[in-house]
Amino acid sequence: MKICRKCGAKEENEVLFICSECGGPLRTIKSNPFTEGKFGIFHVNLDSVTDNYEELLKLLQECFITRCEYLYHMGVFNITAVHPSFEKMKEGQPPELYDIMYHEDKLEYFFRNVKKREVN
Ligand SMILES: [Zn+2]
Repeated sequence: MKICRKCGAKEENEVLFICSECGGPLRTIKSNPFTEGKFGIFHVNLDSVTDNYEELLKLLQECFITRCEYLYHMGVFNITAVHPSFEKMKEGQPPELYDIMYHEDKLEYFFRNVKKREVN
């Protein structure tokens, strides 16, 4: 996404250097999952913290955590956070739930929307 320095028009076409509205110079806007409302909720199992600490930390480093609570009866940390892969929150609705999945080829954790698990 780019924005015109002169008239403020938003330009989706990343290849353009000048505004298609007024010919003014464009500047690139970095995506910001926080202002975009990409909030999600996920559970971190206590076992995975002790067994896969390093790998898990890599995923958590990409998150801006806004809430964390240890749920003793479930043995999980219930975390609300911002992450680029989360979907934008819908107005008046709570953040969606995500699973933490392990990618065998890339050897890393990633988030998957729980809704997509239920579809498959
Ligand atoms: Zn312009």
